[in-house]
Amino acid sequence: MTQSKFDNWTEIDLSAIQHNIRMIEHHAGIPVMAVIKANGYGHGSITVARAALAAGSPFLAVARYHEARELRRHGIDAPVLVLGRVSADEISEAVALQIRATLFDPEQIRLYSDVLADNQQRLLVHAKFDTGMGRLGVGTAEALPLLKAIMDAPTLELEGIYSHLARADELGISVTKEQMERFSSIVQEARQAGICPQQIHLSNSAGAWFYPQLPDCTMVRGGIAIYGLNPSEKTPLPNGFRPALSWKTNIVSIKTVQRGQAISYGGKYIVQKEHERIAVISVGYADGFRRVNGNRVLIDGKKLPVIGTVCMDQCMVPLDDEIQAEVGDEVVLIGRQGDQEISAANVARTWGTINYEVVCGIGQRVKRYYPENGIEL
Ligand SMILES: *Cc1c(COP(=O)(O)O)cnc(C)c1O
Repeated sequence: MTQSKFDNWTEIDLSAIQHNIRMIEHHAGIPVMAVIKANGYGHGSITVARAALAAGSPFLAVARYHEARELRRHGIDAPVLVLGRVSADEISEAVALQIRATLFDPEQIRLYSDVLADNQQRLLVHAKFDTGMGRLGVGTAEALPLLKAIMDAPTLELEGIYSHLARADELGISVTKEQMERFSSIVQEARQAGICPQQIHLSNSAGAWFYPQLPDCTMVRGGIAIYGLNPSEKTPLPNGFRPALSWKTNIVSIKTVQRGQAISYGGKYIVQKEHERIAVISVGYADGFRRVNGNRVLIDGKKLPVIGTVCMDQCMVPLDDEIQAEVGDEVVLIGRQGDQEISAANVARTWGTINYEVVCGIGQRVKRYYPENGIEL
């Protein structure tokens, strides 16, 4: 077995992301704004952004201003929307870099107008409405006043309006339909007042796949599904979507230990057999591999338990006699090996969370490797 280049790495299939984007676009009937916040859900925001744009995404979305700036720094000049708050001291630069800001509070109009008073160019904004998520955005009653105030602000240009679905990843929930109706009525009200923004978007991945799109909408915002992962256990994507990410490490040591030997911090696992082969693998909680019981990994095409306490940089796996393994062998944390698979959802179940948090939480120390083009980040 050849020694792999890295200790601990993800392999990201960019063509899978492109394929998933095309699937969503085809199904929804409108283009996909690629949501690449949080380092592209752990997949690497720059490479994912480039792949998404090449697959036809007309727009990118991030959560924080600095994530948008990072895209510009890498020469990505496609439209980018910041879904979160852009602060007053970032706003002049946002105008220069043509980074779109979300306007979710009338107070931002005054704040931004003060900063931009002498600016030649206008700030492109997408107004955000709270139709039932209870997060950012003004309610239905304040929607039209907000839109009018934006139209009246000489330093702002209304490019888009949007809202966010709270429960599209559950089926048969009336809330989603109600949110769609509220959003639709805001769009109609705006139209009647002569306000017709270029971009109108509502659906996240689950909304894009499991609900029909409102005829007014020009894009869906695709996050989890573009990475080939299910919005929830209750709303699995159909066959044809391809998970883009595998997470791997390798065996750095194998030794045979005697009965009674304690393994790892706290001595929580004690060897019961006369002797047992223990593999040390190169992943720990500093890589985002959680310090909980019940972790499993694939070695020699078999699903094996991690035993003892997960350390910062390593953890241990006992190897039964029938397991063929040697130092340098590949260990799969997420992905396939032989006919076995551990999905991000499997890991999420062990960790008591959702697949979103699993992939976002893969640590900065973990290499991102793109086999198609040989890029490593
Ligand atoms: C994160 C986010 C999305 C993407 O959601 P997915 O469920 O991953 O598709 C869309 N819109 C907003 C406002 C978000 O914050």
